[in-house]
Amino acid sequence: MSWPFDNSYARLPDRLFTPQAPTPVRNPQIIAVNAGLARELGLDPAALSPDILAGNTLPDGAAPLAQLYAGHQFGNWVPQLGDGRAVLLGEVIGQNGRRDIQLKGAGRTPYSRNGDGRAWLGPILREYVVSEAMHALGVPTTRALAAVTTGEKVQREQAFPGAILTRVAASHIRVGTFQALAARGDTEALEALTAHVIARHYPDVDTPLELLRAIVSAQAGLIAKWMSIGFIHGVMNTDNMAVSGETIDYGPCAFMDAYHPATLFSSIDQFGRYAYQQQPDIAVWNLAQLATSLLPLMGEREAAVEAATEAVNGFSQLYQADWMRLFRAKLGLKTQEEGDLALITGLLQRMATSQADFTNTFRALADGAAAAHITDEGAWDSWAPDWQARLAREPGDPQATMRNTNPAFIPRNHRIEQAIQAGLTGDFALFHRLNTVLAHPFENQPDQGDLALPPENHERVLQTFCGT
Ligand code: AMP
Ligand code: MG
Repeated sequence: MSWPFDNSYARLPDRLFTPQAPTPVRNPQIIAVNAGLARELGLDPAALSPDILAGNTLPDGAAPLAQLYAGHQFGNWVPQLGDGRAVLLGEVIGQNGRRDIQLKGAGRTPYSRNGDGRAWLGPILREYVVSEAMHALGVPTTRALAAVTTGEKVQREQAFPGAILTRVAASHIRVGTFQALAARGDTEALEALTAHVIARHYPDVDTPLELLRAIVSAQAGLIAKWMSIGFIHGVMNTDNMAVSGETIDYGPCAFMDAYHPATLFSSIDQFGRYAYQQQPDIAVWNLAQLATSLLPLMGEREAAVEAATEAVNGFSQLYQADWMRLFRAKLGLKTQEEGDLALITGLLQRMATSQADFTNTFRALADGAAAAHITDEGAWDSWAPDWQARLAREPGDPQATMRNTNPAFIPRNHRIEQAIQAGLTGDFALFHRLNTVLAHPFENQPDQGDLALPPENHERVLQTFCGT
């Protein structure tokens, strides 16, 4: 079978990657194929065979490789990471432009370090459901084209079924890709990578400084969106921040149920570095690492540092503007008034003290049913009249604004966990049901109401584990 490949990354300087074929697996079986996405990419979904999706057979024109990158993991510098369990098959040009097609869990590579190059079923199902849900929620993200089981076991705390995700991305180039080259003093490759990223993602910019500004802006918009839907990435290391502005790497990620700004799920995040409210600050920290990596391309050192610092500091204003626009819309507001920020933070504070469900409280606003969520004594009555007075001054259809901004359905952590547990017994019904419902997160779908409920106490998932 032939795909519309054009493998531009493979034409970059060879220090950026290592040619690497996937390692075949014993008995691949399809869990899911995303037919709509396949068609967008110009691929025939019926031709996506288990052998192709597992890397046992390469489509014609593939130039499989593992990408080099480095990164700061929880603030600590790691000079060499790279695709340790993923192989880039190549890039196809589809309806929406150039897309990377990557097999995640495809076997060992020169960057595997002590890892086995494989993934088990749980993280593959989690990434499939959450990344597709993010897309339906309007958040820039990598996509899931397919998931297969491998017929092989993967040893973690115990032996689990192995699985492979076919991941689609605008690119897999990360802040850590730039860091790897800067740390090696490889200015020639850094220049080539920068030109590549400009041509591929930001064709309107001309210089490395403008590129930095563009990436800062894309990240500000992205993180504001995360915050507006209660998404916690969980492992915002610089190797997990894509310069395209897409959400990437769904390891220990989760959506908040009850609202609290310090919410955190990741089992490996001891100090809450990547808690919900930390995300904008961490994005700035990561962007500062990108800025540092670009300095060698920005001319005279002192002036370059000043310009780069200003570019990174620009995040705050861009983020605030996006955050305000999104949270205004969550309250049904498209126009701007001075008291809007106080109105938004007033509701959030009340949600925190009432331990109100983030998603369902906002969703209930449009139905006049939010009082039931703000249960703290007097809390609703001390907020609602101001909001209602503000709504009365709002032209248009605030109810529609709210319903199109506040989802009824998010991929709730306990449901993902249940889908994984069922998947381990070979039952993928809940996994498929989640994908179907989450494809339309802003529709009411009354017969799917159980998927809108927060977890019962015994269903609560307190920790999520990295995708390894
Ligand atoms: P992640 O936590 O998924 O962002 O991964 C961090 C780094 O560890 C990346 O370089 C991965 O490629 C690598 N890695 C994670 N799991 C494995 C594995 N099972 N085998 C080899 N490398 C891995
Ligand atoms: Mg990663």
